[in-house]
Amino acid sequence: MTPRLEVRNITRRFGGVPVVSEVSLSVMPGQVTCLLGPSGCGKSTTLRIIAGVDWPDEGEIRIDGERIVAPGFFVPPEKRGTGLMFQDFALFPHLSVFDNIAFGLDGTRTEKRLRVHELLDKVGLLRYIDSYPHELSGGEQQRVALARALAPRPRIMLMDEPFSGLDNRLRDGIRDETLSILKDEGTAVLLVTHEPEEAMRMADEIALMRRGRIVQQGAPYNVYNAPVDREAAAFFSDIN
Ligand code: ADP
Ligand code: MG
Repeated sequence: MTPRLEVRNITRRFGGVPVVSEVSLSVMPGQVTCLLGPSGCGKSTTLRIIAGVDWPDEGEIRIDGERIVAPGFFVPPEKRGTGLMFQDFALFPHLSVFDNIAFGLDGTRTEKRLRVHELLDKVGLLRYIDSYPHELSGGEQQRVALARALAPRPRIMLMDEPFSGLDNRLRDGIRDETLSILKDEGTAVLLVTHEPEEAMRMADEIALMRRGRIVQQGAPYNVYNAPVDREAAAFFSDIN
């Protein structure tokens, strides 16, 4: 099967210093791959390169087998079919929930209405369709942000620590709910996190990153039970 996303040997240097080194990883259709590693290891840089807001010095990226980045070749972000969510990805405060979700949608008013209704139903917030962001709780705003990101049916959703701004009490519930909505939509996901526990909870596949490099990629069970070395084992050891 052709991977939904395939990153091959990308390297990114800042001022001559490699921050991402020969990174390769893949995400299969309908699956969640977690890019997991400690703070500062190069996760966000990798994600930004895939999203198209940064570019690699070397390497190639394909979505559904189609090249989007290669030496001397660059498809602009809005033409990649990628969705993006990160911690402080705020809703537009002056737009209603409906307009926030419909914002990036093409099509007739009826088509937009149908899609917004479908998504709000999935995230359980149909009753807030005419509300404004400030009338919603943090968790509810997060669900609207998810609906907005999913609305144009992205080929792959790129998520950079989207749960880290939520308080502990809410986080597990929102993770589970987000995962079930993503699975229901059949969206492939690359989820960046520094928390092994989150990766174990959400991933079909974990790509373990350290100092700019992927050191292991595999099923969560295997990465957890057969860590590549002591450092990887120690990184996982603080899961309760
Ligand atoms: P992570 O998301 O894993 O915490 P980042 O990708 O944000 O890591 O950053 C990796 C390293 O690259 C850090 O040391 C960071 O300071 C550095 N870095 C990121 N962006 C830039 C930039 N635009 N210029 C110089 N250094 C950068
Ligand atoms: Mg980061």
